Amino acid sequence: MKKYDFFKKDGLRPSAEQLLQTKVFYQHSGEIYAHFDQWKDIDRFYFIPLYLEMTYSLGWVAEIAPDPVWLGSFVRCNLEHPDLFQVQCPQCNQPVQPFRYVGSPLSGRVDLEYECSCGKKGFETVSGWQPRAIALRDQIATDTPRLRQYQKHHPDTAPATIDDLREYLKPQ
Ligand SMILES: [Zn+2]
Repeated sequence: MKKYDFFKKDGLRPSAEQLLQTKVFYQHSGEIYAHFDQWKDIDRFYFIPLYLEMTYSLGWVAEIAPDPVWLGSFVRCNLEHPDLFQVQCPQCNQPVQPFRYVGSPLSGRVDLEYECSCGKKGFETVSGWQPRAIALRDQIATDTPRLRQYQKHHPDTAPATIDDLREYLKPQ
């Protein structure tokens, strides 16, 4: 992918199974963020593919980042840029990270969708589509050499899933 080419290239849609697995992330993003240090160095979890569909159609389709977005790249980017990706929960005032964001490059409006550990679900509308797209794409570009190494050494390994990661994180 060209890093800042925001035009979506292909019309491929994620499969039902891929969308289902991505939904598991939406439902458990809080615990996955909270345990980042436990799984961030494990390639098979870091490179779980997410199909976030961060697209916006204006006659042509713009996307914050093309699918799949790697779980580790997404979580790391959001944790490392709280100014761009942190929401304050209106119910309990805790900081919370989004599980997805979509928006329009024309108006610049972005909706950060989140689910807080207190149970509050919602989204916060912020301004600044491009800096968020650039931050995420930079993180993906930074992680790409690590992905290539992993793929080279594990050419026949199917990607792990969010369910695999949750099983790994379960207290013994
Ligand atoms: Zn809350």
